[in-house]
Amino acid sequence: MQLHWHRRDLRVADNRGLATAAEAGPVAPLFVFDRDVLDHAGAPRVRYLLDALAELRGAYQERGSDLLVARGDPRAVVPAVAAALDAERATWAIDYSGLARERDADVRLALDDAGVAREPVHDAIFHPPGSITTNAGDTYSVYTYFWKKWRDRDKPDPYPEPDADDLADANTLETAAEALADAEFDVAAGDLPTISDLGFEEPSASVQPAGTEAARERLSAFCSDAIYRYADDRDYPTRDATSRLSTDLKFGTIGIREVYAATAAAREGVGGERDESVEEFQSQLAWREFYAHVLREHPNVVTENYKEYENDIAWRDDADELAAWKEGKTGYPIVDAGMRQLREEAYMHNRVRMIVASFLTKDLLCDWRHGYAHFREHLADHDTANDNGGWQWASSTGTDAQPYFRIFNPMTQGERYDPDGEYITRYVPELSDVTANTIHEWHELTDLERERLAPDYPEPIVDHSERRERAISMFEAARGDD
Ligand code: FAD
Repeated sequence: MQLHWHRRDLRVADNRGLATAAEAGPVAPLFVFDRDVLDHAGAPRVRYLLDALAELRGAYQERGSDLLVARGDPRAVVPAVAAALDAERATWAIDYSGLARERDADVRLALDDAGVAREPVHDAIFHPPGSITTNAGDTYSVYTYFWKKWRDRDKPDPYPEPDADDLADANTLETAAEALADAEFDVAAGDLPTISDLGFEEPSASVQPAGTEAARERLSAFCSDAIYRYADDRDYPTRDATSRLSTDLKFGTIGIREVYAATAAAREGVGGERDESVEEFQSQLAWREFYAHVLREHPNVVTENYKEYENDIAWRDDADELAAWKEGKTGYPIVDAGMRQLREEAYMHNRVRMIVASFLTKDLLCDWRHGYAHFREHLADHDTANDNGGWQWASSTGTDAQPYFRIFNPMTQGERYDPDGEYITRYVPELSDVTANTIHEWHELTDLERERLAPDYPEPIVDHSERRERAISMFEAARGDD
């Protein structure tokens, strides 16, 4: 018997750990609700997780098997379940965040004590941390060089999915769960807790449909159309030109090899701009792997600046301004639209993520850690490596090759990427009767004009030009410039 411990690989297809276990089979699949992980989760992610698990369980049931679901500390659960099943080996997909690595190191020791072999595998990304380095063997701090090596490496094909013969039957799983009835944790074949059992309320945001089937639909729709205009349109939030696969990739409801294979097929026989556009999309997949490298090599980036400055950065951290940013009431329309999209959909368009992150750190002079914590709570696709990488990039403490004086102008960004104000008015209805040109000049109007045009929408809480100067001084002081 083999035990496969599902974590962020909630699928049966293109699952390297599961396929590895199935080669020796039969496999008993397990998922563990870990309180330490749940304590860092937000309601949108728990919703997606539960829906994805329900689908995964269904996939096993269709094959005469089931999913063992436990609630407890994996350090105790995994070896005990392995013993109850008399499993020879446990497999799982490696997670690169510090918290997961500490936990997994303990689980490995516990399995050794229990005499169970274990085989953690790299599954979530093509090229694991440490495999793409500078010629001197260091992790790249600049993405462009990383990308060139990533692009030129071979990409394996998807792994086969197990069939009924490869899996433990449902009765065997139920017997193992019953044998653990007196354990200090709960385990059952199939039963999933509700969101309130896990201590969360239903999210107010509408989270996109979860699971492999929904992810495959998104992938196939994207690869038959938007992928060819991705390079031109990806920065425009109303053009629906991105894949929307981030939450699926975060929870592993679709495998990276399957995604890449679909993009490679979309590339076949097309030339010129269409070919370049597909490659542009593939280069976004490489960003995930770049940030996984960074996180694995520098686990302290979760709380510390990646880039070292001579002195501490003197963040201003004004509580009222931070609250206005979180609520989407800064008086900067594109910023407010983004922050409201986050609350409504547990998602935000990438260009707008960059704008709101720059605004928080360079206009409100607020520590990126506050923004990261807010995103972590609200994003369905929150991923430690990508979220942290994005925040540190935007706040000039990360891997951005540009210096600290890259400061987004929220008005020109709005004008360029949402010229008709369509995205803004979708999320900021107070501005729906205001023309796009006036929206993009909101900061230049008089209080009286603003009051007349949109009485319920706030005036800008800060002056961008003034704050830009302050941000530059703040970074110069941190650099130790005279
Ligand atoms: P697409 O444009 O279709 O991209 C395809 C996939 O490539 C994405 O699903 C994602 O897995 C990956 N990808 C794309 N851009 C990036 C990037 N810059 N960095 C890393 N991976 C990328 N992405 C997350 O997955 N989780 C996060 O928590 C997250 N937080 C972010 C925070 C900030 C401040 C910023 C600036 C960016 C953040 N991103 C994060 C990156 C990016 O915004 C999202 O991946 C993207 O918007 C998701 O939409 P999509 O799936 O349609 O993307």
